[in-house]
Parts: sequence; structure tokens; C-alpha cells
Amino acid sequence: MTTTFAELTTMRVGGPADEFVAVRETAELVEVVKHFDAKKVPVLIMGDGSNLVVGDAGFRGAAVQVRTSGVVIDGGRVLADAGALWDSVVVATIESGLGGLEPLSGIPGSTGATPVQNVGAYGALVSTFLTHVTAYDRHDGVVLEIPLNDCGFGSHRKSLFKRNPRYVVLSVGFELPRTGESQPIAYAGLAQRLDVEVGDTVSVAALREAVVAMRTERAMVLNPADHDTWSVGSFFVNPVLHEVPARASECPKYPDVAGTKLPAAWLIENAGFPRGYGADWGNGRVQLSSRHTLAVTNRGGATTSDVMAFAAHIRDGVEEAFGVRLGPECDLINCSFDDPPPTVGI
Ligand SMILES: Cc1cc2nc3c(=O)[nH]c(=O)nc-3n(C[C@H](O)[C@H](O)[C@H](O)COP(=O)(O)OP(=O)(O)OC[C@H]3O[C@@H](n4cnc5c(N)ncnc54)[C@H](O)[C@@H]3O)c2cc1C
Repeated sequence: MTTTFAELTTMRVGGPADEFVAVRETAELVEVVKHFDAKKVPVLIMGDGSNLVVGDAGFRGAAVQVRTSGVVIDGGRVLADAGALWDSVVVATIESGLGGLEPLSGIPGSTGATPVQNVGAYGALVSTFLTHVTAYDRHDGVVLEIPLNDCGFGSHRKSLFKRNPRYVVLSVGFELPRTGESQPIAYAGLAQRLDVEVGDTVSVAALREAVVAMRTERAMVLNPADHDTWSVGSFFVNPVLHEVPARASECPKYPDVAGTKLPAAWLIENAGFPRGYGADWGNGRVQLSSRHTLAVTNRGGATTSDVMAFAAHIRDGVEEAFGVRLGPECDLINCSFDDPPPTVGI
């Protein structure tokens, strides 16, 4: 039976690749990528497919699944292989008496993908305690240690690695405080849940518990039985604008180094797309999550074309209402609801 991206991604859509290769050792990962590059075979690096949507025609090339798994904790230093499951790394740090990563509990996917879009949740970002990324540079054919300051973090969800096939993340290093106490809580809803004030701290274990509970309620923890989690999490990225159109003046605004950030969830909801929207639109196989308007979800049997048509419909409604054009937060390979599809190359 041919393997397809529908089986390997959390949105559960997408056709086959010419070849799927799962790699369990870091040295092997570098060799495999070098091998395909030498043969000029297009390469798609993937972790757990939780931020990836691939076209119905699939991918003409090799999809390399990073399945390395080592995690070394030495004092406050943590070095995790790219393939290590992110949430297992969070748990291991908490069990070792370290704090800092607990607000990022429950985020699906691999550790190597976390710097790609500088994953974040509940007011925390993975870059805060990251020290370096070790990556294979496909352009120069060398392994590099890239320090935090060269990782290109800054504007929302941006990094040196985002939509940049030049770098294959091999491992990620962190330096974490040795504390059983959380960082000051930055997210009002989380503080409320814990019955404390924004800026207060609680035990690291209590913070993880609250985050996992809140994520579970919003279907932001993977659960194969729950179609609200058949998604990529936030499908649309929060737009960062130089100038906010007058029509969007009532939207909450947050400062960003590149301009003003608007919450895409607010724009979607206020453009007339409530939670669960989509049952009566198109074939109904793609809908907004019933618990979170930013998540575009597969209700079963959807194709990538269905997802793209639905995403374009939401984007157009938001643009009509507020003059703001939404783009994807997830990575789209050989599919698009907007500009020409991105190509994969170095
Ligand atoms: C239910 C749900 C909840 C989510 N919640 C959040 C959240 O709270 N915050 C958040 O930020 N994200 C969230 N996400 C998105 C997703 O979990 C993260 O982006 C995650 O880091 C993706 O990891 P992955 O291994 O699945 O990456 P994949 O989907 O396999 O890949 C994503 C991108 O990273 C690239 N990539 C992957 N591994 C490597 C590597 N080793 N080297 C170079 N490039 C690589 C791929 O080429 C692709 O472009 C959520 C997703 C789901 C389904």
C-alpha cells in the first residue's frame, strides 16, 4: 500500500511522496539529505506533520521523517534531538527540576520543528530559553551551531528556518532555570484559571497541569477520536501590519517588531464565522473547530482541495469585512489558497 501524507499529518489530507524515509540517527539524517541533494531529488523534511498540509497530488521527491529521539539534561542545560517528541522534552525538564518550558506543554510535534515557527502558547515562546540550534546547511554542506541571536527570531512566528529548506535542524539546545516555580504568568486566561494575578508565579507542575487542561478543552491536544483536533492548530497566522485599516480599528492590537499584530481569531469570529462554522458550506467536510475559530478541521474524508477552498472562503470573508488578508501559519506544500505554491529547493 502506498503511504500518503493523509496518514502522516494531523490534518489527515494529502497524497503520496515518491519516497518516505524515516531516519533515527542524526549522522544518518545528514547522510540521507546529502544523498538526495547529490541526486537532485527534492527533499521535504518533516517531523510529526502537525504544521504541514500537502497537496492531493502529494510530493514529487523524498519526504524525510526525522525520528531521532535523544535528550540529554545536564544541570540546567538541555540538548534534544530534532526528532524528540516536544512534549516529552517538556516533561523530562520538569522531572529534572527545571522550569521555563511548562507553558509550552501539550504542543504536538517534534523538537526540531519548534524553532521553525518559534512555537508559542500562553504568552511564552520557545526562543526564550533556547541557546542554539545545530543544523545541517544544505547549501554549504556543513553542520553548523547557530546561536540564538542568529536564529532570526523576532517578528511573530518568524525565524531563519521558516519556509527555508536550506537548514535541517538536527538538535536544539536550551538553558533552563533550576526552579520549581514558573516564570511570571503572562496570559490573563491562564492566571484566571489558576486563580492568581498576571505576573504571579505558581509551581511548574501546577502550570503544566493548567495548560494541558485548557488546551484539552480547546481541542489543542491531539486526540484521534476528536475531529476538532484533526487540524494544524492555528491554520492562519496572526497578521502583522504596518497600518491597521480603519475597518479593523476595533480589533485588539499588540505590538510586534515588524508592526502591529492582530489576532486572526478575533477577525474570523467578527467577520461572521463562529466556532464550528462550515457544516452548511461546501461539502461540509472542512469546518472551523467547534472550540477554537483559528483551527480549520477535517471532519473526515476531506481532501487538501477541500481545505484550500474553505481557507480561501474564510480569508475572503475576513478581507471583505476588515480589509485584512489572512495567510497560513502552517506550511503548504504543493497546495495553496493564495499565491503560487511554494517550491521546495535549497
Ligand atoms: C492540535 C494542535 C495544536 C497546536 N498548538 C500549537 C501551539 O500552541 N503553538 C504553536 O506554535 N504551534 C501549535 N501547533 C502547530 C505544531 O504543533 C507546531 O508547529 C509543531 O512545532 C510542528 O511540529 P512537527 O514536528 O509536527 O512539524 P511538521 O508539521 O512535520 O513540519 C512543520 C514545518 O517544519 C519543518 N521541519 C520539521 N522538522 C524540521 C527539521 N528537523 N529541520 C528543518 N525543518 C523542519 C517542515 O519542513 C515544515 O515546514 C499545533 C498543532 C496542532 C495539530
